[in-house]
Formats: sequence, structure tokens, C-alpha cells
Amino acid sequence: MLGKTVTVIGAGPAGALAALTLKKHGLSPALYENRGGSPTPADLPVKPFWDVGGSVNLHGNGLRALERLGLLDQFLANSGGFASKLVFMLMDGSDPIFRNQKASRAGEYPPIQILRNTYHRVLMSEVEKAEIPVFLGKKLVVATQTEFNVTATFADGTSVTSDFLVGADGINSTVRTSIFPEAKHPIRAGAGFVGVFELGFTPGSNVPPLGFDNPVGVYGDPLSGNSLYTVHCPEDNAGAFVLMQMRQPEDEEDPDWLPYEDLPKEANRLADNVAEWGAPPSVTNAVRYAKRITPIHMFDLPDMKALHKGRVLLVGDSGHGTFPTQGQGLCQAIEDCAVLHNLLVAFPDFANGAYPDVFRLYDEIRLPRVHFIAESSRAVMTHMHASSRVKMRLGRFIFRLILGVRNTFGLNDAILAYNCEDDVSKALERYRRERAPASK
Ligand SMILES: Cc1cc2nc3c(=O)[nH]c(=O)nc-3n(C[C@H](O)[C@H](O)[C@H](O)COP(=O)(O)OP(=O)(O)OC[C@H]3O[C@@H](n4cnc5c(N)ncnc54)[C@H](O)[C@@H]3O)c2cc1C
Repeated sequence: MLGKTVTVIGAGPAGALAALTLKKHGLSPALYENRGGSPTPADLPVKPFWDVGGSVNLHGNGLRALERLGLLDQFLANSGGFASKLVFMLMDGSDPIFRNQKASRAGEYPPIQILRNTYHRVLMSEVEKAEIPVFLGKKLVVATQTEFNVTATFADGTSVTSDFLVGADGINSTVRTSIFPEAKHPIRAGAGFVGVFELGFTPGSNVPPLGFDNPVGVYGDPLSGNSLYTVHCPEDNAGAFVLMQMRQPEDEEDPDWLPYEDLPKEANRLADNVAEWGAPPSVTNAVRYAKRITPIHMFDLPDMKALHKGRVLLVGDSGHGTFPTQGQGLCQAIEDCAVLHNLLVAFPDFANGAYPDVFRLYDEIRLPRVHFIAESSRAVMTHMHASSRVKMRLGRFIFRLILGVRNTFGLNDAILAYNCEDDVSKALERYRRERAPASK
């Protein structure tokens, strides 16, 4: 027998994982994704809709949550292994400050390095195995709900009505604007470029094989606010970079993760910019000879007061997208799903009446965490900029001191060592206590 139906809007990392989580608990989810509509002959050869972007950060907190969802091994097998060290440098590669990323306690994991398209491909193959229907080229235009169901209407004029709806349609979510019209809009606070290149590729006899001097590094110029994140993804035979600039984007239109069509022209222009910033040749070459570069805008969603309303739940960036400065976008989406999973374990009668309690507990557990992550991501954004050389030196001195103490004593990091199950247990205990009959 089919379980209650759930329309999931957006088949990105949050939507696909939410659908898998719901299916595990006997519900019947279906994914509706804007990308990948019917291609015209000009679009051939057709690439899978997830074949976009650069790399994603899968930190220890996200890996723990994936483990809880029974998916950790699939991702470990497709990554280049753990990254035990991250180096923060000035733009020319000088003044390195190291962050030890090794796990210091049982159950913790160092981060893994993986391309977003690899991560997404693995996830979508799990969706296929779970026989979850996926409808592509379906752009949600509005979602409405009654006491009994939710209706999603798409740009092609079709609509679907289901028992529940999950909004996983990213930072510029239409589910959010439909169901939470009172919510503030995301703030745009910078522009960036995400790129991928083939590791070890030799573009010419006078250019060394492509690869960064620091496989996992952050190059920053606090005086200009420009920064660069570099990573090797050995399993994908790739390197990836993110260039961030704290300025308004040249193009006011949201580019929606569309890669540059005229790659050689844009890659040369960006590589020249990066060379002017003073970045080392390993970085400028990676940019110049990248095989895909995508312009992006950086958004920050003001803190939401709730992640659910009635029969609708938000997961991932739609409910809490923020700056990429802590690299937590994907991990927070995974934590959302792990918490949902734990709550569905605790409330097997979710679909037959317990859903308001599950959604309320989801908010109680997730809101403090995602607000904390957003606050720290905003703080890093602020610290990436210094108004004078003296302030820059002082900032780096303090940062070196903090990381030195953390590295030496293996201190826990409130973001990376987080285990969402602790918060679920506390919330469930509270819930049961509040409902326990008062003792005489
Ligand atoms: C194409 C793309 C590439 C990205 N590449 C990177 C990257 O390289 N590195 C990185 O750190 N982060 C990247 N991100 C962001 C990153 O995936 C998220 O921050 C994080 O993983 C949380 O995922 P999410 O599923 O909540 O949001 P998203 O990843 O933004 O996924 C949202 C999904 O919803 C779909 N969608 C949006 N609006 C509608 C609508 N109206 N109707 C139906 N579907 C809709 C989108 O097409 C997308 O597939 C990318 C996002 C996108 C959309």
C-alpha cells in the first residue's frame, strides 16, 4: 500500500536526500525539479541536470549525519579521502596558518573532498534505487495549502496535490515566498566564480601540470576583500576553486548556476584578475585552463522564525541559506534530513496525526543550529575584510593564536564536531517530560 504522498520541490542535495529519508519511513515522495527539462537538438549531447558547479564541502558534522542516514560509505567510496589540514594564506601564498582537521574523538570525521556533481550523482543513483519518481523541467510557480493537503502549480500549467510538501528549492525558494510571504528576502552581498579543472593536465610545454600548491587552501587579501578557496578532488581527477569578491555582481540578473559559454574569454579575463590580486601561478593557471567556470551571487537569508507551516516543511538553503564562508550549505541540508529521520523513527505515526509534533520539534532542533551557522558565516564574511594593514596583521595574529590552541589541544569545534543526535535526544526528552502525567 502506498504511504501518504509528499511533493518535494527541488531535486538538489537537500531535496533528493529528503525524498530518500521520507521513503525510508513508508511515505511516497516525488521530486519536481526545474532543471533538465526537454532538451532541444541544440542542447545535445544532453548532460545530467546535476552536471554543474564545482566542489562541495562535506565536513565531519555532515558525514556523521550521512552515517545516521546509512549513506556514508557511498560517499566515502566516491571521494578522494579525508583532508587532514586546511591552510589559510595571504593572497601570494605567504604567512600560512594551519587548521588541523583530523578527528580528535571517536565518532568524528575529517572532511572529504568531492565535486558537487559527483556528490549529486551518487545521491540521484540512490533515488533511482529507491524508485522515487523524478519529474524534470518542472518549475514551481506557486504552492498553496489547506488543512488537508498541499497543491504545487508549475510553470507548464500542471499541478499536483499531495498530503505534504517539502520545499528544497534553494536560496531563492518559491515555496518559501508562497507559504511564508512574511519572510524576509535573501540579501545579496558579493559575487563569486566557481571553477573546475583537470588535475595534472598540461596545457602547454611552458605550463606545469595543473594543480594547487596547497590542495586544501584559502588565499585571502583582507585589504581588498578578495579571497580564493582551492581544493583537489583526487577521486574525480579534478581540482576546484571558488573566487569570492565582496562587491556587487556585474550582472544584476541571478545567473542561476549557468556556466560561462565563452569559457576561454572569461577564463583568461578571470585569470588576469587573479594574477593582479597577486595569487601564485598554480592558482592563475588553474583558472586560465579551467574546464568549467560558473559565475555566482552570494546570498544570505535573514533568519527564519519557523521552518514549517501547516503541511509544508523547508529543508536546505530554502530555509537557511547563507554565505559559503563556513562551507556549511550542504552539511546543514544533510543535518536537516538526519534530524527528520530521527524524528520519524520516534514518531512512526507521523502521517496519521503526529506530523504537527514532528514539524514543531524539527523547528525546535534546527532553528538554533542554523541560526548559529548563519551568524558564524556572517562573522567570517566580516573578518575577511580589514580596513588597514595594522588591523589585518592583528586579525591574523589572533586567528593564528586561536587555531594554534585548538590544534595543540584537539579542541572541539562547535560547527564541525556537532552531532545532531544529541539535540534530537534532548528535544525528545523535553517533549516526553512535558507530556508525562504529573506525579501525585
Ligand atoms: C546548480 C547548482 C550548482 C551548485 N554548485 C555548487 C558548488 O559547486 N559548490 C557549492 O558549495 N555550492 C553549490 N551550490 C549550492 C549548494 O548546492 C547548496 O548550498 C547546498 O548544497 C544546499 O542544497 P539545496 O538542495 O538546499 O539547494 P540547491 O543546491 O540550490 O538546490 C535547489 C534545487 O531546487 C531547484 N529549484 C529552484 N527553484 C525551483 C523551482 N521554482 N521549481 C522547481 N525546482 C526548483 C534548483 O534547480 C536546484 O536543483 C549549487 C547550487 C545549484 C542550484
